Amino acid sequence: MFIDDLFSKSWDTENLSSQELLFLLSHPPDSIESLKTIAEAGAISRKRVSGKAEVHGQLALDLAPCACDCKFCSFARVNNIFKDESRISPEESVFYARQHEKNGANAVYVMTTAQYPFGQFIEVSQEIRKNLNPETLMVANVGDQSLERARRIKDAGYSGVYHARRMREGTDTLIPPEKRLESIRNFQEAGLKVGTCVEPVGPEHTDEEIVQAILFAASVNPAFSGAARRIEIPGTEIASRGMISELRMAQIVAVTILGTPASVKGFCTHEPCTLGTLAGANLFWAETGSNPRDIEEKTEQGRGLGVHECKAVYRECEWDILQGPSAYLS
Ligand code: SF4
Repeated sequence: MFIDDLFSKSWDTENLSSQELLFLLSHPPDSIESLKTIAEAGAISRKRVSGKAEVHGQLALDLAPCACDCKFCSFARVNNIFKDESRISPEESVFYARQHEKNGANAVYVMTTAQYPFGQFIEVSQEIRKNLNPETLMVANVGDQSLERARRIKDAGYSGVYHARRMREGTDTLIPPEKRLESIRNFQEAGLKVGTCVEPVGPEHTDEEIVQAILFAASVNPAFSGAARRIEIPGTEIASRGMISELRMAQIVAVTILGTPASVKGFCTHEPCTLGTLAGANLFWAETGSNPRDIEEKTEQGRGLGVHECKAVYRECEWDILQGPSAYLS
């Protein structure tokens, strides 16, 4: 297999096969082959979005020990990091959402743990919606939902949702993998765009598992796809498995771009970094409030970056930033 032939196929908007994606992932992250993959995918991504990247701003409505027990999440009950539940008020929610809007986020995400009461989520969302500019797009980042609830999310003023079938879903989480796909279908049937990601990738995941996840994400007709590494949360059992490097994550972002149909323009990575965006990541998230990768209650005082900081990372890689509503969710 010649690597340049694979790049030519990608430029010709042909889908690469799982064997070809495996081949690209099999090279060491610091090899010439991997660096070429990063360069090609980066160039393809820039062309797809005319060099304009996006920053979406997320706010979290609650912080609570969560019974879904995803081992990589600081909210998981099993990790015993956050013992008490706390929720922000509707006024605070509006404040954070408007702050993201004012800072130029291309979409505003509202996140809850799976424990947050659905009715309250809808009420707070309506309050946020009322206080944002009508053209500002809202995205929900919530647990699995039925079709009826997906419709209520749409009616509350959301354009899309973020939803992923995570790496080793059902093994490293208590959520059946089929449930994730069912929810994605429900969201789409309700008229919501679904953004997704290959996440959270750790060193134990094989190239085969990663390719499977890339192709699964590509198969759901996503508004955007991408790849993100697992962040080590000190004191958790899963932390002993370690973390992949930013360069390996960049390689996976690049292969994700080459493994996703050309109709998809958006590619996320998290956490924001220059290597990820060099590989073609054109969507970063700014965060406020709680964060499943942080042990600080307010991630803006911890790992979370603000909209301006995300823009600064893009500038280091010579990206422009889209002004106005997200092109991936419109
Ligand atoms: S990732 Fe979501 S569902 Fe899983 S434990 Fe964390 S809050 Fe709960």
